[in-house]
Amino acid sequence: MKFKQKNLVYLVIGLISAIFILETIFSFNGIKTIRFYKETDLITQPLSSDYEQFSKGNFSGYECSSYNLSVFLDEDTSTVAGNLTVDYYNDDPINFTQIPFHIYASGMRYDHRPGYIEILNVTTLEDPKEELAFDFLNSSQLMWVNLTSDLEPGNRTSFIISFNTTLPDGGIDRASDHGEDLDENRIFKFASCYPLPCVYDKFDGWNIDPYLLTGDPFYYDMAYYDLIVNVPENMTVAATGELIDQVTIDNRTINHYNPHLPVREVTFSASRYFEVETFLIPDINATVSTYFLSQSYWLWHDFALMVTIYAGELFYNTLGIYPYSTFNVVQEYTYYGGMEYPLQVYASTAADTHQYPEWYLETVIVHESAHQWFYNLVGFDQVDWGFLDEGIVCWLTDWFKDVFHPDWGIFDPYWGLYDVRHYSLEHGLPNKINQSVPDCISSGTDYWYLGYTKTNTILEKLRQTITHTNFIEGLELFFQDHYFEIAGLKDLQNAFETVVGESLDWFFFPWFDNPYLPKYEFVNVKYDAMNQLINITIRDVNEALNQYSYSQLIPISIYSSGSTLEYFGYEWINGTTSIIIHIEKLPTRVRLNYDDFVLVQFADYNLNYLQTTNIILIDEVIPVIDILSPPQNEEFGKNAPSFEISIIEIDLDSTWYTIDDSVNNYTFSGLTGTIDQNAWNDSPEGNITIEFYAKDTSGNIGYADIVVVKNIEEMVIFSYNTIFYIAFICLISIISIKTFKKLKNQPF
Ligand SMILES: [Zn+2]
Repeated sequence: MKFKQKNLVYLVIGLISAIFILETIFSFNGIKTIRFYKETDLITQPLSSDYEQFSKGNFSGYECSSYNLSVFLDEDTSTVAGNLTVDYYNDDPINFTQIPFHIYASGMRYDHRPGYIEILNVTTLEDPKEELAFDFLNSSQLMWVNLTSDLEPGNRTSFIISFNTTLPDGGIDRASDHGEDLDENRIFKFASCYPLPCVYDKFDGWNIDPYLLTGDPFYYDMAYYDLIVNVPENMTVAATGELIDQVTIDNRTINHYNPHLPVREVTFSASRYFEVETFLIPDINATVSTYFLSQSYWLWHDFALMVTIYAGELFYNTLGIYPYSTFNVVQEYTYYGGMEYPLQVYASTAADTHQYPEWYLETVIVHESAHQWFYNLVGFDQVDWGFLDEGIVCWLTDWFKDVFHPDWGIFDPYWGLYDVRHYSLEHGLPNKINQSVPDCISSGTDYWYLGYTKTNTILEKLRQTITHTNFIEGLELFFQDHYFEIAGLKDLQNAFETVVGESLDWFFFPWFDNPYLPKYEFVNVKYDAMNQLINITIRDVNEALNQYSYSQLIPISIYSSGSTLEYFGYEWINGTTSIIIHIEKLPTRVRLNYDDFVLVQFADYNLNYLQTTNIILIDEVIPVIDILSPPQNEEFGKNAPSFEISIIEIDLDSTWYTIDDSVNNYTFSGLTGTIDQNAWNDSPEGNITIEFYAKDTSGNIGYADIVVVKNIEEMVIFSYNTIFYIAFICLISIISIKTFKKLKNQPF
């Protein structure tokens, strides 16, 4: 099925812009002060690898070691006899007198027959062959080949190691012979079980760690490989590289494989019962093949191939070029889900019996396929930085699911959030990501959790912080910048910093190097009523246990009485932090919401927030009283006057009045009332001052007064009738006087 990149719907989850205006000062008891400053200059980092050249398969001018591995499988004895022809190139800056090889097979798990590699001899190439001395240390699964002369930087040396590998039984580990011919399910798996050249680096010198049952204890340089696999006739072989020749002689088939370009190691698997399905992906120009037992046809047929193609297309188009011509997904017996090797990965038969077989098989195939980008093409010291490629690959697998199964809502919310938040509650243990597998083992740190849950969850937090586009660009840059090289955590950080143009120390140091997540508490919360400001001080109680202070955006809610939300916003909490927010109403509750992508150490399974009602009120504001009635100088008789006032105060405690200069105080509630009648009766006539008081909870007392007049004498009351009556009397009087005058003026 053809897969089209342009049809992909990429979820862009970018809650926060990539603008970090951050100048945080972290200190703890004066012991440490780690400051992260916002970078003022853009970080620019040119591509240092030869991605453009290498991705075209052009390695001219590039020297590396070459290995020709020729093996012969004996199915009766479960052994693989082999010759490894070594053409070792010293690309390190010192002289070598010995070259170490891992001899891992004896470190692997088994049921009854342990794995073992017997070294038969080491000789020079030229005839007559000379034997080279070697030291074989089975306890540390190591052999040292002693060179006859110093190997100087830039020089090469050659020899042949003859060995015989006994495959462990049980189908538990990376190499095995498991299954039954009778049941038509027997598979031979030859992986990590030939003499594997150790890596010399500036950190450790020779990396000679023994096989580890925790993690993938592998670390290899890129080298040219040629692989010849001699198996009984009618056996199907899956192996690293392109099958360039196949001949059958005397009931044996000799298969010749070559990856053409450098790889980190090779592997093969053989079975008489493999079914094979193949598809050439035109865009990538690579042939994808699946190898599986007939018993798993119902699950693998088409489905495994389709998932592999989809995964390959997604990673090819977003991260960078897969330059090889083949890629195999091979069914295996194991403890775990699958295992990555260059150009060939394995997926466990455990999918067949899983509750969700398709989900399980898809997860394994996508995960192991992603390792082609982050394990083979970009290499890692998986002993010292094992979490790095695993975390990236786990995240890529989840992203694949998000792209192809948006209805699964894999990031909504991300499944790792719950595990990481509750890890301490569940296990009572710290978990620092940035440590080696042996350190994890000695410190009792759960490597599986840190590599396959915590790292990818932190990466998802990074994506939420720097936006999806920047995150994918960062992974792409990281991949292309270290193409065919070895990379570490700092390189990953550099790639993201280059994309966002800012230092990300504040993110990487605490989240990768601290053993404990932040655990916040409110130190104090004060409300300044005068300025209407709430000052919230939050402390990370785990700060003393960690090397670096955390910075993260946390949603904060502030409520007033009646659970009225007065404020909601995101605030940077940088270790112990004080934040000041303008709030008009008296706050009664402050809450840090542990949702979105806030990462904290949960103290409770059900409580996804931290809140306090303990808010200290700093109130120097005197209550303001305004008397609405009675009006000034109003006269009153026997009946006491009523009143109405207003009060401006956020936290009123009590109100009272007096009409006798505080000889007697009368408390009241509300804003209206009537002056006490007895007090009024007792007051003398004349001017009376009514004094109102209002006190807040901080003890501030507001005051206002008004003068009224008490006058209990009968007052003349002019009614309309009275006015008419008086007017009538006057009228009569005037008429009478005029009549009298007329009479007076007449002659008698
Ligand atoms: Zn993995």
